[in-house]
Amino acid sequence: MIKKIGILTSGGDAPGMNACIRSIVRSAYKNNIKVVGIEYGYKGLLNSNFINLSAESVTNIVHKGGTILKTNRCEEFKQKKYRKIAYNNLRNENIDGLIILGGDGSFKGANIFSNEFKVPVVGIPSTIDNDIYGSDYSIGFNTAVQTIMDSVDKIRDTASSHERIFFIEVMGRNSGHLAIHAGNATGAELVLIPEINIKNFDSLVQKIKKINIKKKSIIIIYAEGCNLGPVDKITNYVQKKMKNSNVRYSILGHIQRGGSPCEKDRINSSILGYYSVKEIIKKDKSKMVGIINDKLIVQDLKVSIKRKKKINKDLFKITEIINNY
Ligand code: ADP
Repeated sequence: MIKKIGILTSGGDAPGMNACIRSIVRSAYKNNIKVVGIEYGYKGLLNSNFINLSAESVTNIVHKGGTILKTNRCEEFKQKKYRKIAYNNLRNENIDGLIILGGDGSFKGANIFSNEFKVPVVGIPSTIDNDIYGSDYSIGFNTAVQTIMDSVDKIRDTASSHERIFFIEVMGRNSGHLAIHAGNATGAELVLIPEINIKNFDSLVQKIKKINIKKKSIIIIYAEGCNLGPVDKITNYVQKKMKNSNVRYSILGHIQRGGSPCEKDRINSSILGYYSVKEIIKKDKSKMVGIINDKLIVQDLKVSIKRKKKINKDLFKITEIINNY
């Protein structure tokens, strides 16, 4: 019987994590399961940063960005001797299972830990990058897209008034999901993503010049992991080759992580939190919950970490077609 579970948030924070923590705590409460919050991700597991979470303690957090449990990265957790310390800390606290909110890296750690020490673990995709294989949805993604939209709309006003060409760098690490969605929603003339290599700087200049024949102000969404390197370098290059144009760049940066979660990130976080408790009660090792085609899925964590999630090629193609003429 599972009597006590631990929750931790690991890797990058994502809006909706708090709504999910709240859902886990309240769902566990209904099943007479005690909940311990582990602060600072895997680092807190190593240092026994444990706090008791009661049903009341998660009041008034559904609308808050970030994570009340704090998050961190923890290089030590990649070594078995440190994971053993983490396991002993769990045992000392009588924690029977773990629910982990994080991205790809956090899931790798969760899978190894669960297999090594036979601890039931359920992962919940929580990353604005939305790059977890096996789930369409990841906590925080929709809020981040909304934040990018708000920012790009504002930049569009000035780009259009001054007839400027703007590179706008968005997050996503080595995936282009954020860039594709934001690019479509903002009517960006060009979307550059890590999954599609750009041959060289000059081929990019040719593309921009072609768009520039019809449009004087151009928005280019540039995913941070693109193969051409830093966005300032590219901007300078394009400016040199297009002397009669005004080329600028803007890096949206950490603004994309914060803010109050949107409706979808609140509701899906509640759903995933609820089902993660249902799963942990089964005491299965190393699972993740996710959403595909608006339906809940449960799969082995090892499946999600072995494969790279594909981009939505249809959306990318549609964006290319309708955002230019
Ligand atoms: P995210 O979960 O957002 O992808 P990271 O890639 O930074 O973020 O991973 C978060 C944490 O997960 C790392 O700091 C580390 O503690 C743990 N982790 C990542 N990869 C591994 C691994 N191969 N083995 C064990 N732990 C890992």
